[in-house]
Amino acid sequence: MDAEQLREHAHKMVDFIADYYKTIEDFPVLSQVEPGYLRKLLPDSAPDKPESLQSVLDDVQAKILPGVTHWQSPNYFAYFPSNSSVAGFLGEMLSAGINMVGFSWITSPAATELETIVLDWLGKTLKLPEEFLSAGQGGGVIQGTASEAVLVVLLAARDRVLRRVGKNALEKLVVYSSDQAHSALQKACQIAGIHPENCRVLKADSSTNYALNPDTLNQAISRDISIGLLPFFLSATVGTTSSTAVDPLLALGKVAKCNGIWFHVDAAYAGSACICPENRHYIDGVEEADSFNMNAHKWFLTNFDCSPLWVKDRNALIQSLSTNPEFLKNKASQANMVVDYKDWQIPLGRRFRSLKLWMVLRLYGLENLQSYIRNHINLAKYFEGLVLEDKRFEVVTPRTFSLVCFRLLPPDNTEDGGNKLNQDLLDAVNSSGKIFISHTVLSGKYILRFAIGAPLTEEAHVTAAWKVFQDEASALLRSL
Ligand code: PLP
Repeated sequence: MDAEQLREHAHKMVDFIADYYKTIEDFPVLSQVEPGYLRKLLPDSAPDKPESLQSVLDDVQAKILPGVTHWQSPNYFAYFPSNSSVAGFLGEMLSAGINMVGFSWITSPAATELETIVLDWLGKTLKLPEEFLSAGQGGGVIQGTASEAVLVVLLAARDRVLRRVGKNALEKLVVYSSDQAHSALQKACQIAGIHPENCRVLKADSSTNYALNPDTLNQAISRDISIGLLPFFLSATVGTTSSTAVDPLLALGKVAKCNGIWFHVDAAYAGSACICPENRHYIDGVEEADSFNMNAHKWFLTNFDCSPLWVKDRNALIQSLSTNPEFLKNKASQANMVVDYKDWQIPLGRRFRSLKLWMVLRLYGLENLQSYIRNHINLAKYFEGLVLEDKRFEVVTPRTFSLVCFRLLPPDNTEDGGNKLNQDLLDAVNSSGKIFISHTVLSGKYILRFAIGAPLTEEAHVTAAWKVFQDEASALLRSL
């Protein structure tokens, strides 16, 4: 890395990115290109001779940006948000600049120690129980995604129970979640070798906004025990992907505890909201959990990827995931004096992710971060009010955080209950390029999800988005 070339080029790149943000509203939010568009625009092979940065940036502008879906657009309302911020960006930049690979403490002591400290800070901010902090037997680690987080704790839980009952019992192990849990759990079960028939996907309770009923869990566990199976893992969600339902952690946790089950809490999206005192009650009962995860890269102004995971028993992770090859041996690790995060995750190599979380916490401060969350929740309340005022629409599930689940009511006697109508509405608003939303299906109903959380979204964007829905709905209803 030539320092002067870096200085010159990085300035140009920052200018390019700043201009991108200035003009971000000029792009269709959802990329409108056809599959395979890029092959037609780029050469068949890499260049033999170096090209200039300017020629690459010209191609980014002309050929790449049209194929980008603009997650940072203020008109992005799909899935869940994936925040970027100046602080998060600067942290990423610094991490890319230092570019160390911090798998063991010795490979960059600051990377390991900062991660431990920052996750203690964030754990305290969320008022997690002390057992999740590094002073005791637990601690935090930054995973890349919530999917990796649930996989590593599932492996730890699996191996903990197999150490007790013997490896041959793998076929008997049972995992529990509601049918609203993210598919990341299913993937983790596949990887961990859990028998597909032993993944209990329990029907969530539609009367409680699709949360998991503890009685349903209890009954399933009793049934499984009575036929000789071994319940060992429960994943509950705070803020489900479809409708932001909140599973009742305290009651579920007690059931898990009574049965010696590892209790994981997936708060990938909604965990961020719990830094506000008025929302902290959504994770009441986390004291019963063995592990807790949130995605700072969703709604916490930390650029992708950054998925903090806390565990109460770090040794359970380490026992599952540690290796100790000769070429990595060093005095600090051998003396057991340090944390080697390679033993808390799947890959060996790891980035200096804590820098960006540290920068977010320091450059914004808790009060600003709380206001940020509150602002999005208020915007979602505002949007919910707009939907409620228009009798052609219904709000389908109660809004809890910053997601509004709603649909256009079909004319009477519509055969599929309005599913096609709402699918057509989604296609119409997304292909307008003005906004981007996504959908879900709950109790057989096709539902539109309007997820607020992009950092640049303001009330005017929400008002304009609602007008897009109204106009497209009027056109669709006229055409029936
Ligand atoms: N859990 C929940 C509740 C989610 O909403 C998501 C993604 O939206 C995930 C897990 C998976 O997240 P990741 O992409 O970090 O694996």
